[in-house]
Amino acid sequence: MSQDPFHWTTDAARLREEAGLVRALRPRAFDATVLDLASNDYLGLTRRPEITEAAAGAARRWGAGATGSRLVTGSTELHAELERELAEFCGFEAALVFASGYAANLAALTALSSHGSLIVSDAANHASIIDGCRLSRAETAVVPHADPEAVRKTLEAHPGRRALFVTDSVFSVDGDAAPLAEFARVCGGHGAALIADDAHGLGVLGEGGRGALHAAGLAGATGVVATLTLSKSLGSQGGAVLGPAPVIDHLVNAARTFIFDTGLAPAAVGAALAGLRLLRREPDLADRARTVARTLYERLTSAGLGVVRPDAAVVSVTAPSPDSAVRWAADCRAAGLAVGCFRPPSVPDGISRIRLTARADLTGRQIDRAVATILATAPAA
Ligand code: PMP
Repeated sequence: MSQDPFHWTTDAARLREEAGLVRALRPRAFDATVLDLASNDYLGLTRRPEITEAAAGAARRWGAGATGSRLVTGSTELHAELERELAEFCGFEAALVFASGYAANLAALTALSSHGSLIVSDAANHASIIDGCRLSRAETAVVPHADPEAVRKTLEAHPGRRALFVTDSVFSVDGDAAPLAEFARVCGGHGAALIADDAHGLGVLGEGGRGALHAAGLAGATGVVATLTLSKSLGSQGGAVLGPAPVIDHLVNAARTFIFDTGLAPAAVGAALAGLRLLRREPDLADRARTVARTLYERLTSAGLGVVRPDAAVVSVTAPSPDSAVRWAADCRAAGLAVGCFRPPSVPDGISRIRLTARADLTGRQIDRAVATILATAPAA
C-alpha cells in the first residue's frame, strides 16, 4: 500500500505536543453559571433580547442566508442600512460590509495595494492583516511594534512609491492602543495611506464607542481607512471597511473577498444594526467597559501579577510558560470562570498569557469572583 500523503501530520502533532502547543476544540456548553471573560462580547450585547430579536426578525424577513454574493443577490436593503449607519456613527463617508472582519482586512489590503507598492506593517498586527499583506503581492516591510519613527524611516527609504501603513488600533493580545495620531502625521507627511483595524476599538474607545480613529480625530480624514469586525462590541458577526466613498467604490469593484464571497447573512446584519442603535441609546457602555478593564488591572497588579496596562477592554496577564497558561485557564474554567489563553504562535514575543475581557455588563460581584478565581489559580512565579 502506498504511504499516506498526510503521514507528516502525525509528526507535526508530536512536535506540538512536545512544545506544549496543542490546540483542541472545546464546544461551549449552554451553561449560565460560567462567568465569561473569554469572549469578545465587550458590551455584553450578544444575548440582549433587542439584538437576538433583531437577528430573528431579519432572518424571517430576508431569509436565513444572503443567497448570493453582494454584487448578485446578496445585498439587501438591510445591508445598505447598516452601511449607512456604520459610516455615519464612526464618522466616515462610506462603509462596506463583509462576511467577516478577516475578509474585510484581506479586502482593504489587497485592493488598496498592488505589485510594486509598499505596505508597512506593525510587527504585532493581527493574522488577518498579515495574510492580507501576503495576498497583496506588494512589498511588505514589517516594522517594530508601535514605532512611528520606524514607519517614517521606512517610508523615507522608498520615495515615490505608492505606500500604506497598516496597524491594529488596539492589539488583541496585550490590549495596548496604537499611537494613531502620530502614525497619521507620519503617513500624511509622506503621502502614505493609513489603514487601522479597529476590531477592538469600536464600542470601547472614542465618544460613545465610535472607535479609536474617532477618538484620535482621524475619522473621515483624507487617506485614512478603518477596518472593523461586527463580532465583538456589536454582538453580531461580520466585518466592514470604512473610508472615503471613492475608496469604498474601488473595493466594490476590486476586492475579491467582497466580489466572490456570499454576502453577510441577514440575521447578522440585523443584529449588528440593532447593536449599533443600542450603542447610540446607551453611550456610557464604552466607558463602563474601560472602567471594568482598569479595575481588573489595578486589582490584579496590586496582588502581584504581571498585567499590561489596558488601553481598551482587553486585559492581558502574563504566564510563566505555555503549559502554565493552559493549566491556569483550565483551573479557572474548572472554578466556573472562562478566560482566554494565548500561546505561541499567536504571541509573536513568545510570552504566554491569559486574557480577560472587561465586559461592560460585569457586576461588582462578578468582578470580585473573577479576581478571586484568577488569584487562587495563579501559577507560582
Ligand atoms: N482583526 C482583529 C484585530 C481581530 O482581533 C479579529 C478577530 N479576532 C479580526 C480582525 C477578525 O475579525 P472576524 O473574527 O470578524 O473575522
